[in-house]
Amino acid sequence: MERIVGIDLGTTNSVVAYYEQGQTIVIPNSEGSHTTPSVVLFKSPEEIIVGELAKRQLVTSPKQAIRSVKRFMGARFSEIDGKRAGIDYDLIEGPGDSILIDVGWARVSPVQVSAAVLRKMKSTAEDYFSEPVTKAVITVPAYFNDNQRAATKSAAEIAGLEVMRIINEPTAAALAYGLDKQVNQRISVFDFGGGTFDVSVLELDKDVFEVKATCGDTFLGGDNIDEILFVYVAERFLRETSIDLRLDPQAVQRLREAVEKVKCELSTTTESLVSLPFISANAAGPVHLNYPINRKLFNELIQPILPRLEECCNFATVDAGLNASDFKSVLLVGGSTRIPAVQNLVRDIFKQEPNRSLNPDEAVAVGAAIQASIMTGSLREVLLLDVTPLSLGIELAGGMFTVLVPRNSSIPTSVHKHFTTVKDNQTTVKVHVLQGERKVATENHTLGHFKLTNITPAPSGIPEINVRFQIDANGILQVSATDATSGTTSSVTIESYGNLSQQEVEQVISMAASSADDDRLFLRKAYMRTHADVLMGQFRKILQDTKDPLDPAMTMALKEAMFKFDIAMSTKDFPEIEMAFARLKDLANEMGERIIMQQIDPGSG
Ligand code: ADP
Ligand code: MG
Repeated sequence: MERIVGIDLGTTNSVVAYYEQGQTIVIPNSEGSHTTPSVVLFKSPEEIIVGELAKRQLVTSPKQAIRSVKRFMGARFSEIDGKRAGIDYDLIEGPGDSILIDVGWARVSPVQVSAAVLRKMKSTAEDYFSEPVTKAVITVPAYFNDNQRAATKSAAEIAGLEVMRIINEPTAAALAYGLDKQVNQRISVFDFGGGTFDVSVLELDKDVFEVKATCGDTFLGGDNIDEILFVYVAERFLRETSIDLRLDPQAVQRLREAVEKVKCELSTTTESLVSLPFISANAAGPVHLNYPINRKLFNELIQPILPRLEECCNFATVDAGLNASDFKSVLLVGGSTRIPAVQNLVRDIFKQEPNRSLNPDEAVAVGAAIQASIMTGSLREVLLLDVTPLSLGIELAGGMFTVLVPRNSSIPTSVHKHFTTVKDNQTTVKVHVLQGERKVATENHTLGHFKLTNITPAPSGIPEINVRFQIDANGILQVSATDATSGTTSSVTIESYGNLSQQEVEQVISMAASSADDDRLFLRKAYMRTHADVLMGQFRKILQDTKDPLDPAMTMALKEAMFKFDIAMSTKDFPEIEMAFARLKDLANEMGERIIMQQIDPGSG
């Protein structure tokens, strides 16, 4: 089978690797380096430069040297903020709310920029093997949505690479770490790179690598730390010299490079220096910048970043139903995990020494190469299981949302649950498929509707309707409903349920938490309505039954209770409704065996 390489298409750096005969080769580029900066310089139609040389020209061509473009992959113009991403090139609105980058002589899309990076990775591999390389496994952050994954795939196609599989970066890191470990273990992958942060909880078995939970921030990385240092130095310089370096593009770029260098140095030394001779000039002549920065100051400056990292770790751990101390290992991945303050934070959160056995720059590409090798059949099969970002379920009678697949369930999965009808001789149920965390169906996001017809007529609560949710390895959801008696089935296929940005997911979760009280009230009402309907249906039947008449006092009591419940529901007076419902239930108890109390899961009507 043809060679498949593994590519880590990073926000900051990209890496290509290949697995052969039990060993991974991280392929050096034409500059001799294992990592290639994901920077593309669009100098002219004839000169498009990728990597280290482009990075060096960030200083002289800030509008044409494009970095951190991964942040804009598959994104909409209306949802981005270039300032927040710390970039200096110009973003403009393209057709259909898309993003374009104006490089002066052309407008390029983020996909085209990524394609240029991938072309460089492809040719790096081709130079190494002296033959064409056309197939790759490419990694993306766990939080990438469908659009972002599709954009990555398009970039690869433009670069002449067939994407054999897209895998999540933390899963790739786990493959790099765990393939030779036979024991079952639970690990956490803490990936803090240049542009994104992900933390994932995985269960590693001999043959199954299962992501139990994942949480991340697509706008948090070493770039943010560089920005903090940049602002600190620029403002201090402004205070001391009255010169605003931010007005001079060349000075901005020199300062950016300098602060990143200082940041990296402070990972190994405790004192460094931002040194920029001739950074500016005033009436008295050239002005130089020389600011010593020690690790203590650095740690103070980056303090605001740390709670954001901790919060994600907690989210992922809780979602996996675990405690922070439950992990066998915590893998550090991504260049920014070299920062001692970050390592200390990880140690504090997970109450253990983080595992630094992997090369943080290369682990993801190595994992992609391992997956590639699995696909060619030269390594044993390992099943990679992913998770759903939000809960999936259906609407019940009364407007309640019932969850079949909880948030962060691993996929592929298949879940089924029994439902029934709420009306006598009901032959149709509408199945409303939703995604979200709210208890009230309409507050969640609709994924699809379908109808199950031809249900065998029967009294309410008798038919057995089996609703099944199935999600395959590619994340495609299929929902079906079957009437157990007639065997009639109806279904719907939904492909885009994962199409949410991480911000959207977070928003949904926090909205759900803040609306819990409202939802409870709504649910209680819906519950009473549904159950009262069932009870009243049975009362009516008993009242009509002339063979076995009720005594007049009981007849009166039933009629009165039913009347009062209807009135109470129409007034929306909650305590009144509770009372009227309690009265119905009391009467049902008194009626004893005349009422066939059914344990029902109210069917979607
Ligand atoms: P990405 O996955 O976003 O491409 P990487 O994992 O390659 O990113 O990490 C790049 C980031 O790591 C950059 O912000 C870089 O400055 C930072 N970095 C690299 N080495 C160090 C170091 N020794 N100390 C601190 N940060 C570092
Ligand atoms: Mg990375």
